[in-house]
Amino acid sequence: MELKLNMDLGNSKKMPGLDKTKVFDLLIVGSGPAGLNAALYAKRKGLSVGLVGKKTGGQVIDTTSVENYLGFEFKTGEDLIKEFSQHVASLEVPLLKDAEVASLEKVEDWIHINLSTGEVLEARSVILATGSRPRRLGVKGEDDFLGKGVAYCAICDGPLFEGLDVIVAGGGNSAVEAAIDLAKIANSVTLVHRSQFRADQIVIDKLNTYSNVKVHLETEIIEVQGGPLMSGIVVKDKATGETRTIEANGLFVEIGYLPNSGYAKGFVQMNNKEEIIVNALNETSVPGVFAAGDVTDIPYKQIIIAASEGAKAALTANDYINRLK
Ligand SMILES: Cc1cc2nc3c(=O)[nH]c(=O)nc-3n(C[C@H](O)[C@H](O)[C@H](O)COP(=O)(O)OP(=O)(O)OC[C@H]3O[C@@H](n4cnc5c(N)ncnc54)[C@H](O)[C@@H]3O)c2cc1C
Repeated sequence: MELKLNMDLGNSKKMPGLDKTKVFDLLIVGSGPAGLNAALYAKRKGLSVGLVGKKTGGQVIDTTSVENYLGFEFKTGEDLIKEFSQHVASLEVPLLKDAEVASLEKVEDWIHINLSTGEVLEARSVILATGSRPRRLGVKGEDDFLGKGVAYCAICDGPLFEGLDVIVAGGGNSAVEAAIDLAKIANSVTLVHRSQFRADQIVIDKLNTYSNVKVHLETEIIEVQGGPLMSGIVVKDKATGETRTIEANGLFVEIGYLPNSGYAKGFVQMNNKEEIIVNALNETSVPGVFAAGDVTDIPYKQIIIAASEGAKAALTANDYINRLK
């Protein structure tokens, strides 16, 4: 589902194109919730600001329903992004769309943004808001049942499975915490993990207090089945090699996120998950380079959090530019 933003927004305003020869106060890489809100705040502070992004809307575009963004009881991901984009477009923030950043350099006081096309953009400061993507199992049927049972965010989609039977894939803290949260909503939760738990004992102990939770360790998921909605998964017992089916309405894949940070490797400091390390002001290890949203080491990957972090990053960038000037 690819939304043609900057184009088909009905009677609404469109974001103008970005002048690649201009030196901006601030360029924002990534046009998901973090990048869009950073653009809004930076523009309202009077900065010359532009957005550079591969896919406007980021992960939200792939989200069927959003029910946890304050002020909106229900929005499709597409509609929420339309609201965000129209707000930013009303301020005439220029957007370079379908643009991929390949690397970054600091040249004296300027930041050079090298695009995959070989073109170079220049700015006094940069906000990196390139988000992340959920790690996938990579098994048969996973893509076919996305949004039809397969989900990647228990915080987001858990309530849709009230009273139903769900599976959680994974054995780390996120998977176990997701299973605990789901156990309060679902009829049953089956946690399936291909090896032993990597989660902290305290959360495992908590999980074990729920009578509607079953755990299958050393068990590999090999297929998601169903039609038209997911009806279950096929698993393989690693010790015996035997396969069997577990029936369920939902599968929450909770095996981590992959930050979209490759282009910044070696340029800014990252943690061992390759998330960009930021402080409370969204500063990275490089002066003039800020980061926000899912690409950073800030916990809880959510739209409202990414958007708020984008606002913070823009305000810090504004202070930085004021001091430069
Ligand atoms: C299936 C699913 C459902 C979800 N449901 C919910 C929900 O209901 N509620 C909720 O709060 N959260 C939900 N989330 C999480 C939420 O979508 C993210 O936390 C949020 O989108 C993060 O925003 P972001 O701006 O940091 O990054 P993203 O949304 O990932 O946006 C990053 C942007 O950067 C661009 N980009 C990446 N690399 C480059 C590059 N090299 N050059 C240029 N641009 C680049 C991308 O194209 C994109 O525009 C869901 C996530 C998924 C995957």
